[in-house]
Amino acid sequence: MAIVLWTLDDGAWISVDDSREVGVSDVWTVSSGQFCGCETAHVLLEEFSGVGVPDSRVVASGVGMCIDCGTRGDLEKLPVGRIVDGEFEPYAPVAALSAFVSTA
Ligand SMILES: [Zn+2]
Repeated sequence: MAIVLWTLDDGAWISVDDSREVGVSDVWTVSSGQFCGCETAHVLLEEFSGVGVPDSRVVASGVGMCIDCGTRGDLEKLPVGRIVDGEFEPYAPVAALSAFVSTA
């Protein structure tokens, strides 16, 4: 059975089978060079523009900002979860922004 994925609320959420599973405003790490010049970029998601399942992983595209260097741009193929036995299993973002800032 196929999992139904789409973006909702002007890109604020990724919906999986009619439930909002992944929201913006979380910080994700993006490894070297894929987004900006930082060795490990900490990217605050601002908006999702699309979502897909190229393999067993669920990947999203969207707009984000590196909170280390301030680079803002398009994110492509950010893994936000995976499909296990027909169920969506979300990856944990690094931290909510508030937690990240308080420990910085
Ligand atoms: Zn950066």
